[in-house]
Amino acid sequence: MADIGKQSASNVALPVEERSTEHQCWSCGDMRATRFCHSCGKVQPPMPVDFFSFFGLRRKLNIDLHQLEREFYRQSRKLHPDVNAQNSEREQEWSLQLTSQLNDAYRTLRDPIGRTEYLLKLEGRELEEQSKSATDAARTSGQQKKQIVPPDLLEEVFELNMLLEEARANRKLGEHDTDLEEQLVETKNTLNQRMNVLMSELHEAWKQWDGLVDRGLIGHTDRERVLGKMVDVLNRRTYIRNLVRDVNEVLEG
Ligand SMILES: [Zn+2]
Repeated sequence: MADIGKQSASNVALPVEERSTEHQCWSCGDMRATRFCHSCGKVQPPMPVDFFSFFGLRRKLNIDLHQLEREFYRQSRKLHPDVNAQNSEREQEWSLQLTSQLNDAYRTLRDPIGRTEYLLKLEGRELEEQSKSATDAARTSGQQKKQIVPPDLLEEVFELNMLLEEARANRKLGEHDTDLEEQLVETKNTLNQRMNVLMSELHEAWKQWDGLVDRGLIGHTDRERVLGKMVDVLNRRTYIRNLVRDVNEVLEG
């Protein structure tokens, strides 16, 4: 009798584990068991799921962070060793494994960049920074890993590198050039503004992506375009973030 009520409400306000793929409970055999059995409440063996599925979410990028946090704490409490102290060793072990899965999923999803990177990985996209083979190749050949300079930044990067070299040379000689330092601070501010613009671009891409997920356009060409846009934004962001880091090193050194 409860089944009918459950089904009609299945996409509204059910706790997340009730929305994930369901399995048979190892203890009572009920068919609606995921992390916890719906009938007997027993903890279930961990299953490999992606972080979105772990929270019962579709692969959308605009996430209700308060809801995510509430869900994280709710599940953390249920999996807590103190709560599970009376359970069998096996169940306690599962609780620990699930806790670690829960922590990883929460840490990744609550961070806007981490969440985007994770989605891109799930969708088979590789970011420059993550292409480990390129880094390894650079290391063995002793050459610096070549980062592709975003074309519209070429001029600025060239100028900035000149400034940085000059500042480093000054530092070696124990000299201070206030003008130069001011220029560097100014450049840094401009770079930070660019970072903000990139974040807005990213949020725009999120909106488009979520729209595609809502409309179920799995093989749609727009999907490729939006994913490509996100890769581009993140790569530019990494590039600029590294420049800011270089400037900070020189200013603080
Ligand atoms: Zn059960």
